Amino acid sequence: AKPAGPGSYLLFDNAMTQQVMRRLNIHNELHRALDNGELQLFYQPQVCARTGALKGFEALLRWQHPRLGWVSPAEFIPIAEDSGIIVRIGEWVMRTAATQAAAWVAMGHSDFRMAVNLSVRQFAGSKLPSVVERVLQETGLAPHILELEVTESMALQSVASTLSTLHACKALGVKLSMDDFGTGYSSLAYLKRYPLNALKIDQSFVRNITQDTGDAAITRAIVAMAHSFGMSVIAEGVETKAQLAFLRELGCEEFQGYLFSRPVPAPEAIKCFAGYTDA
Ligand code: C2E
Ligand code: CA
Ligand code: CA
Ligand code: CA
Repeated sequence: AKPAGPGSYLLFDNAMTQQVMRRLNIHNELHRALDNGELQLFYQPQVCARTGALKGFEALLRWQHPRLGWVSPAEFIPIAEDSGIIVRIGEWVMRTAATQAAAWVAMGHSDFRMAVNLSVRQFAGSKLPSVVERVLQETGLAPHILELEVTESMALQSVASTLSTLHACKALGVKLSMDDFGTGYSSLAYLKRYPLNALKIDQSFVRNITQDTGDAAITRAIVAMAHSFGMSVIAEGVETKAQLAFLRELGCEEFQGYLFSRPVPAPEAIKCFAGYTDA
């Protein structure tokens, strides 16, 4: 191999500069994106393990920038979190998803949930319950249809304030689930005190579940723990029938993943209400 010369430092610098520039670019463009209607929600179905019936949707952000093209939420959400604009975006997501859900209710669908992702930043302070309350009022959505997906990192706040925010949301009648469970470092001691309806098993455990005995063991333990706390389990990132069979055997109640559907725009998502009888 050629020894690294001065040129390689230059290349490295350029790559770094480009990365910083792109971040800055995305940061600057996000405000405009929100006001210009460039953000959209796609919806991914969550399916009953027993019957194949539709149980709910997860709303996922999509951004099509006129020049940058599609920007992945995995890239822009962290930037939005750093800059704080995630709080405005998060409120837009909640209102848009609730409006969509209310429209589906008006069309005669009532037995489903609409889950939205919450950033840790939306947990800071004590505003969240009043935002949720306002969105429910404005959209007229029955509270039990709305579900908030929280993550273990919300506990960066004091335990007392995390608990009081969760209980205040719960008191409004919305559902709560813990996203990406097992990937962060949450204290199991607190888990039982969180008023959660469901735990979501992260895709990283599902991916190799049929071969990796460690992942299978972790998933089995999460399912057992969830059930002993009266929570149900949703497995994410289910792509194959083999994963499906395995997760069903472990006692997961619901599945979400490409095997059923990718996240799709609302007009397509509405077809999911028919369920998945061949699964
Ligand atoms: P997440 O909440 O864990 O969402 C699941 C991700 O897995 C989504 O990626 C989804 O499209 C993808 N996925 C679903 N099924 C499959 C599958 O079978 N195989 C594979 N390979 N992937 C699958 P997406 O939409 O790119 O979102 C990435 C992350 O961005 C989300 O992870 C979430 O953390 C964040 N995000 C997305 N929308 C929002 C939002 O409205 N608010 C906040 N705060 N975060 C959001
Ligand atoms: Ca999620
Ligand atoms: Ca997840
Ligand atoms: Ca994730």
